[in-house]
Amino acid sequence: MALIVQKYGGTSVAGAERIRNVARRIVQTKDQGNQVVVVVSAMGDTTDELLELAYQISERPDNRELDVLLSTGEVVSSTLLAMALHGMGYPAISLSGAQAGIRTDSAYSRARILQIEPKRVVRELERGNIVIVAGFQGITEDMDITTLGRGGSDTTAVALAAGLGAEVCQIYTDVNGVYSADPRLVPEARCLEEIHYEEMLEMATYGARVMHPRAVELGELFHIPILVASSFNEKPGTLIHGGVSMEVRNKVRSIAHNLDVGKITVVGVPDRPGIAASIFNPLAKAGINVDTIVQNASTQGITDLTFTVGKGDLARAMEVVKPIASQIGARECASDETLGAVSIIGTGMQNTPGFAARMFSTLSENNINIQLITTSEIRITCIIDAAQVQQAVRALHRAFDIEEK
Ligand code: ASP
Ligand code: MG
Repeated sequence: MALIVQKYGGTSVAGAERIRNVARRIVQTKDQGNQVVVVVSAMGDTTDELLELAYQISERPDNRELDVLLSTGEVVSSTLLAMALHGMGYPAISLSGAQAGIRTDSAYSRARILQIEPKRVVRELERGNIVIVAGFQGITEDMDITTLGRGGSDTTAVALAAGLGAEVCQIYTDVNGVYSADPRLVPEARCLEEIHYEEMLEMATYGARVMHPRAVELGELFHIPILVASSFNEKPGTLIHGGVSMEVRNKVRSIAHNLDVGKITVVGVPDRPGIAASIFNPLAKAGINVDTIVQNASTQGITDLTFTVGKGDLARAMEVVKPIASQIGARECASDETLGAVSIIGTGMQNTPGFAARMFSTLSENNINIQLITTSEIRITCIIDAAQVQQAVRALHRAFDIEEK
């Protein structure tokens, strides 16, 4: 008997009929002789609606109260799913994150899981129950309810799979799997059969929204294979794992893009020790996540420092950086929010020359100007004009030959 963790996203449980559909899928897995633990997201747009309500009541809702409020969305869907299973004659029990033993730190709205103590889950499985766990939430040492950050139910699912030693974590969503590029931009994009954790992590971090990067990281750390598939059809989906029998080697596997790019350039910065720290320490203290950082080689002791943040953080980042820039004697501080990022990703580019050259020529043939370039061992990212992102993704998808065969 295998233990399987399944996660169903918000769209998959939006409404009574969809919840019944999910219950039928769970029952199939159970009938195949498996123990099943199910993690659910809140129904549809519930989390957004609850957030909106909170901001109607208060301009700055209290962090602790907000997390309790948001956690209720997942409690609602978990109970309804348990009822649907009861209606089909299957024993099932819903548990909150706290009851399922998801222990977190106390960073409200972005709590980290410290530990999983799944005693109750195990006991209910032994009793023959299908266990439905409310995703996206946990509990602190002081028994305060926390949430894990938007999209956090993926993280709950993979963490539980790790804590329970599950065979696989299946993430069911409203798309057929992980694509070689966003199919809304590139109609020829392929649904990948399998992909390495590292590739998926880069894709999730650089724009693919199908899975939460933290969940992928956990999967890799605890060697949990993760299947991403649709809850609306029987297509096989994409398996994220660390196995070697990858479908294609020596290739770019996918093109990711991101339109949430805000750029800040500090112009004419004196080139001496401590300058970068004096800018980035306060940004870190303000909780602003910085993505790409580029510092030019200096001429005559003066350099430019450019970095990107999410557009939502751009105004706040400017507030932090402007006074520092004048303090350190920088000439100017400018921001730009008309940018986007395109990335090519694939473990195949490790130790293989030519990928960067081909990417840059493809962009230049399309008259696309590159503003910033960053790389990892398996990724090359170019920051370009947002208006050209779609054209860039299409051209790169063609140039690297990842179309459906
Ligand atoms: N309901 C939460 C959100 O919308 C968590 C999740 O769906 O994974 O962000
Ligand atoms: Mg959601």
